[in-house]
Parts: sequence; C-alpha cells; structure tokens
Amino acid sequence: MIKTDVIIIGAGPVGLFAVHQLGIKGLKAVVIDNLDKAGGQCIELYPDKPIYDIPAVPECTGEELTKNLLEQIKPFKTDFFFNERVDEVKQNNNNWEVKTNNNNEFTAPNIIIAGGVGSFEPRKLSVKESEKFEGKSIFYAVKNKETFKNKKISIFGGGDSALDWALELSKFSKITLIHRRNEFRGAPHTLSEIKKLEKKGKISIKTPCQLESIEGDEDIKSITIKFEDGKNEKIITDRILSFFGLIMKLGPISEWGLNMNKKTIEVNSENFQTNKKGIFAVGDICNYPGKLKLILSGFHEVALASVECFKRARPNEKYRFEFTTSSKNIQSILGKK
Ligand SMILES: Cc1cc2nc3c(=O)[nH]c(=O)nc-3n(C[C@H](O)[C@H](O)[C@H](O)COP(=O)(O)OP(=O)(O)OC[C@H]3O[C@@H](n4cnc5c(N)ncnc54)[C@H](O)[C@@H]3O)c2cc1C
Repeated sequence: MIKTDVIIIGAGPVGLFAVHQLGIKGLKAVVIDNLDKAGGQCIELYPDKPIYDIPAVPECTGEELTKNLLEQIKPFKTDFFFNERVDEVKQNNNNWEVKTNNNNEFTAPNIIIAGGVGSFEPRKLSVKESEKFEGKSIFYAVKNKETFKNKKISIFGGGDSALDWALELSKFSKITLIHRRNEFRGAPHTLSEIKKLEKKGKISIKTPCQLESIEGDEDIKSITIKFEDGKNEKIITDRILSFFGLIMKLGPISEWGLNMNKKTIEVNSENFQTNKKGIFAVGDICNYPGKLKLILSGFHEVALASVECFKRARPNEKYRFEFTTSSKNIQSILGKK
C-alpha cells in the first residue's frame, strides 16, 4: 500500500497542475493515469494544435503545454503510475484507499479526481471471439516488443500507430497490415518504407477489408478478412495488434457514490470537494454553476482544492497563504534558495 498526501486520478493538464499547487504547500502526490503518458486530451486529441487561451502564453500546442507543465512540476519528483485505471475507491476512517486494475493500492487523506471525460481506452475489435484472446494474442498496444518476436502478426488500422508498429515489428516478424480503406492516414514517409518492404515480400498489405472472424481454441491459428467486393481471405496469424484509436469512457468513476450530473461530478465551488469529504473533482469532470470546460478554469480549481487538501493532510498545522515571489518556504521547496 503506497501512502501519500493526495492521490491524483488523471494526468491531464489539470492533474499535472494539481501536483504543483499541492507541492508548493509541501504536500506529496502520486498521479495515476490509464494512458501511457501525461497530457490527457491535449496529448491524445490535439498534440499539434495551437492553444491561444492559456494566460501569459500567447500560443502553444497541446504537446508544448504538457511539456511545460511537466517541467514546472519537476522539483516535486512525483511518482506517476501510467497504464493503470483506478477501479476502486473506499474509505478507511479518515483516509481513502484506491485500487487500480494492476492491483496497485494507495492510501491518502485526499483524492483529487482530474479525470476529464473519463479514461481513454482502446476501441476494440468488434468480432465476438476477440474477447477470449485479449491480452494473450490480441493486443491494443505494444508494451513489450520482445513478446512480438518471430510471430505472424496481423496489424489492423490506418494511422501512425499501425504503420509505425508494422515497420518496427517487421524487423523480426512476419507482418500483414490490414486497413478498411485503400488510403492510410499515417505519415507518408512511413508508408513509403512499408511499400518498399511489401515489394521485398517482408510486409503484406491488405485493403480495403475488415476482420470477419478469428479461428483458434486456446491460441489464434488464423483470421479471415472480408474485402469490399465480398471476397474472403484466410491469413495464418498468431498475434493481432489493433489500432482503431481511443474512446473516452467515464468508467468506474460513476460507481464511487459521488453525486453525479450526467457524466460530471457535482462539487462545491469553494474548495471543489464532492459530497464525500476528502474527495475533490477538478477540470472537465467537475460541475458547478457557471463551470467552463477550459484548462484555465481547471488551474483555478486545483489552487482552491489544494488548500482544503492541506487542511486534511496536516490537521495540526495552520495553512498560510503565501506568494511564490516572496515566500522563502516555497522557494526552498522549488530548490531556488
Ligand atoms: C480538440 C480540442 C481542442 C481544445 N482546445 C482547447 C483550448 O484551446 N483551450 C482550452 O482551455 N481547452 C481546450 N480544450 C479542452 C481541454 O483540452 C480540456 O479542458 C482539458 O484537457 C481538461 O483537462 P483535465 O485534466 O480535466 O482532463 P483530461 O485532459 O481529459 O485528462 C483526464 C485524464 O484522466 C485519465 N483518467 C480518467 N479516468 C481515469 C481512471 N479511472 N483511472 C486512471 N486515469 C483516468 C484519462 O486517461 C485522462 O488522461 C480542447 C479540447 C479538445 C478536444
């Protein structure tokens, strides 16, 4: 069980800035996110798009904003737990206990939910047999390249992830790249590399077609794909990698006994506490009169929530409001003095 002052659920821009606001008050936080990296919507949905309404930053992309937020919280040496979804939240006296789908457990007097529109999850293959092979021979991400060595891999998708992994894994495995359209969305340069390997017989490209069925008992033996003209083809396969993009699912958050309003959590806008003392909701996921789903609103929300977190984590200390420009204490926490 990992002990901390605050458990932050969500490493989007608001969860990241929460680390800062807690850190300058001397509070330790851990951050858990279902994605494999920090940045939430900014990094997953619009990494290259410019944002024009971050105060004092005339223009920055989603990726630049994430990078700067990570830079700003470096002094706090925060532990991040990626690829983990928080599934369970339960009370133990004045503390909260959190469990993830990786069976990691955390305890703290405070939880800040910065879960945005829910956790990002892969869009799954639609054929019904796929479920039983998931995690054994069907994967939606590559966590360890070694497990894909010397295999016959069918890769589905037309974007960068599908193309990049087709190219990378073709170094040591037989690849079939399958897409429902003739045109690929991924980088033209990668596609031209793949076409060269196709000519050499190292990668096989199948378009326009979709998965029709999967054959096999314990392990996958083959798949059948269906072309637009109605013809079927069987492909000997022992691993499937599918990259159909991500969907956002509110997921387990709705089961934690919090007052919900559609897909958002009701909070008190004085401190962003929910109906459960010590559980706060900030950023896109919270709801209160006048709420705007903007990054700058989330930044304000974590500033206030962190004050209440301090009071709960340090009940015997008095909270003192301080400016970063003049506080020796904050400057020493930031390693500036
Ligand atoms: C195309 C586009 C353009 C935008 N442009 C602007 C703009 O110009 N200006 C602006 O201010 N805003 C803009 N926004 C909105 C802005 O991106 C959001 O307001 C902001 O991302 C909200 O941040 P957040 O940290 O609250 O949530 P998110 O960024 O959604 O991050 C939430 C994180 O929580 C994780 N999570 C959720 N549930 C769990 C769980 N149970 N366990 C583990 N992890 C979980 C998710 O995986 C996700 O990474 C734009 C949005 C889009 C889609």
